[in-house]
Parts: sequence; structure tokens; C-alpha cells
Amino acid sequence: MSTTAAPVEWQTDVDAYAQALRELFSDDPAFDQWRGVHHATTEDRVRATATLLGHLYAGGWNRFGWPEAVGGLGGDARHRAALYDELSAAGLPVPDPCLLMETLANPLVHFEPGLAAEMLPRWLRGEEWWGQGFSEPEAGSDLASLRCRARLDGENYVVSGSKLWMSSGATATRMMCLVRTGTPESRHRGLTMILIDVDSPGLSVRPVALASGLNEVAEVFFDDVVVPADRVIGSHDGGWGVAMYLLQFERAMYAWLAACVALRRFYELRDRVMTNGGLPDGATRRLGECYTDLVSLRARSAETVRRLSAAEAVGPEASVDKILLATAEISLHDLARDLLGDHFLTGTDDGADEWRHDWWYSRSATILGGSSEVQRTILADHVLKLPKENA
Ligand SMILES: Cc1cc2nc3c(=O)[nH]c(=O)nc-3n(C[C@H](O)[C@H](O)[C@H](O)COP(=O)(O)OP(=O)(O)OC[C@H]3O[C@@H](n4cnc5c(N)ncnc54)[C@H](O)[C@@H]3O)c2cc1C
Repeated sequence: MSTTAAPVEWQTDVDAYAQALRELFSDDPAFDQWRGVHHATTEDRVRATATLLGHLYAGGWNRFGWPEAVGGLGGDARHRAALYDELSAAGLPVPDPCLLMETLANPLVHFEPGLAAEMLPRWLRGEEWWGQGFSEPEAGSDLASLRCRARLDGENYVVSGSKLWMSSGATATRMMCLVRTGTPESRHRGLTMILIDVDSPGLSVRPVALASGLNEVAEVFFDDVVVPADRVIGSHDGGWGVAMYLLQFERAMYAWLAACVALRRFYELRDRVMTNGGLPDGATRRLGECYTDLVSLRARSAETVRRLSAAEAVGPEASVDKILLATAEISLHDLARDLLGDHFLTGTDDGADEWRHDWWYSRSATILGGSSEVQRTILADHVLKLPKENA
């Protein structure tokens, strides 16, 4: 398909678009270069999978799901969901830059379409990707207490402070950061969302290795970093609204994307166990339980993506999706640990290495993007409307 020849009906016919993707991934041998490849570092994985974005973009494939005004070919979140699903079903990786694209590019398109038209195509081509700078050493679950400060000085903001746990922070070229522009007591009313270039003077990045030894996240320091005021996303002191808009994409699309990848890994695990001497005792039931976790997540997530694409509110009930995702991630990786046995612990091939790295990463599933405890409290307070425990 050339971009000019992309059938316009695909904008509304997601099934036809998905079918075309299925044929593409099975017929085009160029995709084999991204299948089953193991990367020794996170930095290598992000850069290598970004080249898959470039290949998809050249054919116009990953431009569906984004408005034409910002370089897309029309359609909505269901097109992007179909792309992640078909990539995974075809044994291909979902490119790492898509994770943060799902959370950050959507508010960019909504609040700053001019910036999006300039920058989104580069992201879709895999030429750049961004980090999300919300959490700080003393502000995670209680995000409204964050302290990284931005002072307005003429046409610029001057940013000072730090951010922690930034995914893809070691390789990101820009960072969308939530910073304090009001008084320390202003909580969520005194926050602004701002886009900062990583090569700005005064900005430094320190990659943080997780238990796996991989630099999955980074700490970022801002020492009087000057940022033009036209890089504000939304309005001055309006950052909380932007963050809440962003959150619905994180809940809907990140969960869907992660569920697609987890299902592919589940099938890989099943195939590996079956070809290596069959199933150990109890494995059938465990596989069935894990599969149930995964399809429960997918069913729930599909409905949330549908609501998102229909512009229906994705409200506090999406905390269910987040909890199901954490449950499925842990279930899958504990199953891999148990079924692969000694191979998981001491295997020296790429497959064992990848399962071990992923097992370590899955330990963060109950905290990253909002902890399970906090999600249950949101459900109790805002969905079930239960009385406060100390009331
Ligand atoms: C792998 C990974 C990637 C991440 N990527 C990013 C990123 O790209 N960008 C970004 O901004 N952040 C990122 N984060 C940070 C993540 O969002 C925070 O870790 C999370 O919000 C929790 O904050 P915290 O770590 O400060 O823990 P805390 O908020 O200190 O929580 C510690 C514990 O206390 C519990 N707790 C806290 N408050 C309550 C409460 N009110 N009721 C009940 N229990 C409570 C929590 O459930 C948790 O068990 C990432 C984290 C990880 C682990």
C-alpha cells in the first residue's frame, strides 16, 4: 500500500484495516527482521523497535488512528488497538515508542494541534519519542504534591527540580512534564504541563537500572532549564486537566497494548513448554488460569477502548482495567518462572534472559501508572461510593 492509495473506507471500517494488516504481516518478508529478536539493553530495544515504526510509516500503516490534520490518515483509537493486536498476533513486537505515544501524543493532539502537526509525524516515523515526567522522589501516588518548579520569566519558563521513574528516559528526546507554577500549597490547581527538549542546557538524565539490571527508567534533573512559553500544553496552571485527559488514554490504550503483548508471550510460553518434553503436573490448570486472566483483561479493555473511541467518558471505573492488567502480568510471569523451572533460573540463551528480565519488570505492575491499592480506593470511593473508613 502506498500512503496515497490507502483505502479511505478504512477510516470507518476497522475490521478491513485489521484484515489488511494481517495479510501484510504474513506476506511481507521484510517484517522478519523484527521477529524473535532479543536485545541486550533497553536502549537497544527502544531504538531497534523504533525502526519498525519507520517501516510501518513508509507504507502509511501506523498513520491510521490519528487525525489527518496532525499527519495521520484518520480513524480513531480502535485503529491503533487493531495495529497492536495484529503486530502481536503476527509474532512482532509492539514498538516501544508506542507506549508513551499512547499517553502523551493524545493530549498533544487535543490541546496543541499545531505542535502535534509538527512533531507527531516524527514520532510515528520512529525518529523521536518522549518521556512522561510526572513522578518525583516525594510525589507518586500523591501527584498533586509535586515540587519541580517552573517560574515564568518573560517569554520563557525556568524549570528547576527533578523527576523520577521516567520510562524510556534514557533515550527520549523530549519530556512532557507536570511542573508546579503555583504556590507549594496550590496542589492540583497550581500545575502546568510543559514540553521540554532533552538537549536544553541545565537538563541532565541519569538512567536507573531496575532489579533486572536494565535501564528501564531514568531520573531527570532540571537546573534552571529555560523552556519557551509556547511549549505549554493547555494553559498556565491548567496542567491537572491535561493530566486527567491523558489518564484515560493511559488506562484504555496502555492496558490494551500491554494485553496484546502479554497474550503473545503466553502463546510463546505454551509452545516452548509443549516442545520441551510436554506439560509438567498441574501445568494445564495453571495455563488455563493464566489464559482466563488474560482474556478477562482483553474483554474489559476492548470495551474501554470502544468507549474511548466513541468519546464516552473513561472515568474511575477504568481502575478495574489497571488492576486486571497488574493481575495478568504477574500471573503470566509467575507461570513462566514455574513452568520453565531451572531454565528460567539458570538458562543462558536469549529466551531465558528475556523471561527473567520480564519477570523482574512485572513486579512493578502493581505500582507503575498508579498502585493497585490506590486503584481499589478509587473504585471504593468513586464507583461503589462507599463511606470513608474513618467516617
Ligand atoms: C517501572 C516503572 C515505570 C514508571 N514510569 C513512569 C513514567 O514514565 N513517568 C512517571 O511520571 N512515573 C513513572 N513511574 C512512577 C509511578 O507512576 C509511581 O511509582 C507510582 O505512581 C507510585 O508512586 P511512588 O513510587 O512514589 O510510591 P508511593 O506513592 O510512595 O506508594 C508507596 C506504597 O504506598 C501505597 N500508598 C500510597 N498512597 C496510598 C493511599 N492513599 N492509600 C493506600 N495505599 C497507598 C502504594 O500503594 C504503594 O504500595 C514508573 C514506575 C515504575 C515502577
